[in-house]
Amino acid sequence: MELAASGVLVQIYSIPSALPDGSARVSFMIGIVNATGQVQRVLIGRTTLSTNPLTQPLITSLKSIGDLNGTGLLLDENGQIIYAFSQTGNAPSSFDKPVDLTKPFYTSTASDGTRQLVYYWPVVARPWAIVLTVPARQTQQLALDIAMPLFMMILILAVVALISLRVGLRVITGSLKNLAVEANRIADGKLDHPLQVTGVDEVGQLRRAFEQMRVSLAARLDELNRLLVVSQGVASSLEMQDTVKPVLEAVLSIGANAVRVVLLPSILPETPIELPSRFAVGSAKDAYAYLDDQILTMAQKQERIVFSNLSRTREMTLDPKRAQPAALLAVALRHENRYYGVVWAAFEQAHNFSEADVRFVTTLAGQAALAVANARLFLNVEVARRQLEAIINSTPDPVLVTDQQNHLLLANRAAGQSLEINIQKVHGQTVEKVIQQKPLLDLLLASGEKQSVEVILPDNRTYLATASSVVADGRSVGRVCILRDVTKFKELDTMKSEFVATVSHDLRSPLTLMRGYATMLEMVGDLNDQQQNYVKKIVTGVENMSRLVNTLLDLGRIEIGVGLQLESVSVLDILERVTSALQMQATQKEIGFNVEIPKDMPQTVEADQALLHQAVYNLVENALKYTPEKGSVTVRVKAKDNAMIFEVEDTGIGIEPDDLPRLFEKFYRGKQREARAQHGSGLGLAIVHSIAESHGGKVWVESKLGKGSIFFLQIPLTQPTESKVG
Ligand code: ADP
Repeated sequence: MELAASGVLVQIYSIPSALPDGSARVSFMIGIVNATGQVQRVLIGRTTLSTNPLTQPLITSLKSIGDLNGTGLLLDENGQIIYAFSQTGNAPSSFDKPVDLTKPFYTSTASDGTRQLVYYWPVVARPWAIVLTVPARQTQQLALDIAMPLFMMILILAVVALISLRVGLRVITGSLKNLAVEANRIADGKLDHPLQVTGVDEVGQLRRAFEQMRVSLAARLDELNRLLVVSQGVASSLEMQDTVKPVLEAVLSIGANAVRVVLLPSILPETPIELPSRFAVGSAKDAYAYLDDQILTMAQKQERIVFSNLSRTREMTLDPKRAQPAALLAVALRHENRYYGVVWAAFEQAHNFSEADVRFVTTLAGQAALAVANARLFLNVEVARRQLEAIINSTPDPVLVTDQQNHLLLANRAAGQSLEINIQKVHGQTVEKVIQQKPLLDLLLASGEKQSVEVILPDNRTYLATASSVVADGRSVGRVCILRDVTKFKELDTMKSEFVATVSHDLRSPLTLMRGYATMLEMVGDLNDQQQNYVKKIVTGVENMSRLVNTLLDLGRIEIGVGLQLESVSVLDILERVTSALQMQATQKEIGFNVEIPKDMPQTVEADQALLHQAVYNLVENALKYTPEKGSVTVRVKAKDNAMIFEVEDTGIGIEPDDLPRLFEKFYRGKQREARAQHGSGLGLAIVHSIAESHGGKVWVESKLGKGSIFFLQIPLTQPTESKVG
């Protein structure tokens, strides 16, 4: 009451029960205030929890714990039990507050020592608390009761889910398996089988993606195939017509009704027959031909010309009276920066060119340009070859060309006639099979420098065959042989020889007569000094003439080859005789005169002693004659390849290159003034030449004008048996 008087308006007190039902008594004290706010009266109400209708729901709730053999307690603010319910009847008389109020659930030990589950929950707005305890055994049973159906339900659900998953998966795996088969088919390159595209799910999307992949793969493969055909076509031939055709057909396949290739006329070589420069395929190939020149000019400035709708463009002037394409695609033919022409496709309908179309035609244009460039190169080479062939065939002199393996590469018409061979048939055969003339065959089979040989061919004419190596990139790739008809010269030469022989023969008797009478003049009467002098001059002149005539007769004899007296001639002997005979001449001109003979060399050579002496003598005499005073002349002997070589070197006037080829001809004298200043007949070297040839040897010269010359005379060490007879 005092508390109420001091302002505590609501007070509730509970007193633990003394009754067996355990319900406590609760006293409510409400202060009633007057107008001034003073508590003047106090309303006291008293009730027991079990009887109070307001607490009935609470009690009923607490009692419901009885189903679980548990205990329900209501605690007041002091922790005293103000209501207790127990199914078993042994409700606890006191309850210890839990230590941790944040954990409403915890386990503890009951008064009978069993484990129990405690639920402690403070009441909202009152300092009371509700405590529910259930034996642990009971809660486990309860948990089991709750869990069992739950578990069963989960099990059933799981089984259902498993079954439906299997069914669902079977549909998906079936689809995927199907797709795998299709993918394998694509992988095997069978791209003509379309995939079924149904459903909007992921598998359906996958199928759609696969189908798209198949279609574009098939298109690319088709494009590649066409390019391959084109490449094969380009590579398989060098004829423009054949190489351009596959390109035209490939371009036609993109839906054009005419495809044309137009070449710049200037890229084609000039030939007597005009070469085709326009190629076309397609139904309208001729109808659109009038556009060629216009497009050819445009493509020169512009790599690609694409008109999807020609009626909307003003860049091209179309002839309204003629057929007009609706769309046009043209690509320039370029190779290594050179413009060769254009490939263009015309379409009947307006055509939206895809990037792939343009790329395809551009690739084909590249192939076409390559084909045209190759064909052009080939044409140029072919034209040049034909020209060369025509020139060689028109050459009146026979020409033969062989390769490294001695196959006949070329024989011109003149060669065919002279050698009496079919030049078409013998092409590529070995020269041994074709050429019957031994000297000519040897010449063709020989190697090295320019060589010449005289040969009589089946047409009974004499030819001078000259062969030399064909050198390309520094190495020999065969031989070329030109035969010059020298029959006329041979006849002239024979006539000259015969004339000289006859004249010299006929001159001999009158000369002997003249000499005889001139010497006899003294015997028939006295001659004064002047007359004697004249007679001496006449005799000297006649002697000179006789010597000349004799020389000529000797020469004639040597040339026909009669009277070759072969014996073993001592080289040393020859040299000694020559040098001693000419020593005087050398001393007079103060010329250093040397002879060099290596030690280990053959001592003798099989030859006509007189003739060999004559030949060496002539060479040494010339050396002394054409060497100014205080020069030097050296004579050497060498043995090489079963032959003796006499070398006569001087430091004289040398020989003009122009004179060299004719030096060994009869009566030929050098054109130099210094040479002309010397007396001579031009027969000395002709005799050396004849002597060399009659011995199966040769004579040649190396000379530098103003520096000196070296004459070489080569005589075989032994002579063939048949020539020894004479
Ligand atoms: P010849 O000496 O009687 O004129 P050859 O037949 O002996 O006739 O010589 C022909 C020509 O060769 C000579 O006229 C001369 O021009 C030239 N000749 C020969 N030998 C030599 C030499 N050793 N040096 C320079 N020229 C020479």
